[in-house]
Amino acid sequence: MTPREALKQFFGYDSFRKGQEDIIASITTGRDVLAIMPTGAGKSICYQVPALMLPGITIVISPLISLMQDQVKALNEAGIHAAFINSSLTEAQIRRAMQLAAEGVYKIVYVAPERLESFDFLEFAARAEISMVTVDEAHCISQWGQDFRPSYLKIVEFVKNLPKRPVIGAFTATATEEVKEDILCILNLTDPYVTVTGFDRENLYYRVENSRKKDDFVINYIEEHSKDSGIIYCATRKNVDKLFETLFKKGVPVTRYHAGMDNEERKRSQDDFIYDRAPVIIATNAFGMGIDKSNVRYVIHYNMPQSMENYYQEAGRAGRDGEPSQCILLFSAQDVIIDRFLLEKKDFSGLEEEETELIKQRDMRRLQVMEGYCRTSGCLRNYILNYFGEKAVTPCDNCGNCHREYQEQDMTAQAKQVINCVAETKGRYGLTVVLGTLMGADRARLRELGTVDYKTYGALKDCREPLLRGLISQMVEEGYLYQTQEQYSVLKMGNIAPLRDENTHVMMRVYREKEPERSLGGKNSDRKKSPRRSTDALTSAGYDLFEALRKLRLEIAREESLPPYIIFNDKTLIDMCVKLPKTAADLLWVSGVGERKRDKYGDRFLSAIMAFVESRPDAVISIQSPAADRAGNGESAGAPVNGGGTGP
Ligand code: ADP
Ligand code: ZN
Repeated sequence: MTPREALKQFFGYDSFRKGQEDIIASITTGRDVLAIMPTGAGKSICYQVPALMLPGITIVISPLISLMQDQVKALNEAGIHAAFINSSLTEAQIRRAMQLAAEGVYKIVYVAPERLESFDFLEFAARAEISMVTVDEAHCISQWGQDFRPSYLKIVEFVKNLPKRPVIGAFTATATEEVKEDILCILNLTDPYVTVTGFDRENLYYRVENSRKKDDFVINYIEEHSKDSGIIYCATRKNVDKLFETLFKKGVPVTRYHAGMDNEERKRSQDDFIYDRAPVIIATNAFGMGIDKSNVRYVIHYNMPQSMENYYQEAGRAGRDGEPSQCILLFSAQDVIIDRFLLEKKDFSGLEEEETELIKQRDMRRLQVMEGYCRTSGCLRNYILNYFGEKAVTPCDNCGNCHREYQEQDMTAQAKQVINCVAETKGRYGLTVVLGTLMGADRARLRELGTVDYKTYGALKDCREPLLRGLISQMVEEGYLYQTQEQYSVLKMGNIAPLRDENTHVMMRVYREKEPERSLGGKNSDRKKSPRRSTDALTSAGYDLFEALRKLRLEIAREESLPPYIIFNDKTLIDMCVKLPKTAADLLWVSGVGERKRDKYGDRFLSAIMAFVESRPDAVISIQSPAADRAGNGESAGAPVNGGGTGP
């Protein structure tokens, strides 16, 4: 079996992502690896695929119980025999797991680092054929890192005592130069292949919001993104509780997590979030390590984190599935003062004075870096990349600061176009359609409604979406437009008489962008395009099918007691809507469907798709935009343009 075949058969993916192939090639030829890859880049595949190809067992050392359990569930779902050994099991269960491992039942065994000191485990390891040791979250070995775990130091001893030295793969998402050196040196890697895949997460939109009314911001944001799942980080338990109360009273399906809650309560909160029962979670930074939820669409920091390392890691929990997601930091100068105060008061008893001074300086420096991020008027993405040692020069054009402007702008001409457009809609459509039409968005829904043939289609294509959004809401406020109040609110003409007077101007104060820019045409522009959502290809019928498949997934998730995203992630469901598989063989063309999941769930998804297509034979489910330039990543909806049902 080649790595690519393993990737397809077990994980259902067609091609490797950047960096994965070289890492796998190294490991399978026996060369140690240190791979520094950002969250969501796909580290697990880099050791799971070699584990399938090497003889014997792969031991994965991982610091977090929940992460192990999640990974093992996902592997078992993919048809790979794996187990974990940690303190959540009873002694008898542990013995049984080790026995099965010794019999060669498991290809991959996850253990907590503490286990490496257990006599039973060492005895097992001495007899077993261990081909690879994977050190996950390898930065835990460094005292420079944020999450130093003394038990990680035991790994060296453990490996040394094995009868045959296995190949070692070390993986982490956060590594500054110091941490990297530490990992290489402490783990004693031999002639390792070292790779840094880069810290840029293109699908994340960074944004800093100077805000005193943080609650209002959060409430509005959640309201505007009510279908999305998100995390809101607060600095203290008290903040978590307060914000939780506020949102709870507003009827937001929200849960919370902090170290002050008892274990059971925490577990329940976490599960509610993971299983999508509560799409929003408010938490301290105690939450998130080991959370693999792939469809987190936004991470809001209610308070400034204490270091860039923390921020990058926490914000990075957004968009693991590669879909556009937002990372918003709510900044107030007050936070900095509190942070400084806390640093001053930190307890250093037991440390030498010199050491105390060093740590204090380090912490203060970290705080300054973070404050700099909040105050910079430069590109936020580049600020982060530069901090992690990546030279980035050109602004990204996909962050709050790259989109920031301050002037007072005369928007009269644009306002008239908005009015023309609303006239063309005859007051039938809502904000999204009007916006999309004016900007000339390349969306199936617009083609379906025929607004692409309007005179105003693309009339404001040079306008940024948030600006236009702001303009329209201002026009509603000023009475030029009228927005109906029901669930599917539409835009209608208001009193436009004043605009006939030449002296009337619509003036807008432009502060900064509220939303990331989508790719809005402008073919000649050499700016980087913001990522597209895979849902852009879906028509309204497509959305209905997507909803139906999500429902089915939730049903199966309940039956199997698995988080929905372990069954299939959103991207896979969307790809089903695009490709409309009819047979079990077709299903394997869908990204993220491997053989075992096909066998296990395929029939039910096929029936659901068939039922949908039969009930709406004329429905067009997806239209692939000709401009959709997705070449290169090889894992998205790909080529087929699907015309849906048979049609008349
Ligand atoms: P990391 O551990 O680096 O944060 P994961 O290993 O959890 O990232 O992978 C993130 C997501 O990307 C997972 O849903 C995984 O299945 C998916 N993924 C990984 N490699 C590929 C690939 N080659 N093609 C498509 N999806 C992939
Ligand atoms: Zn930028």
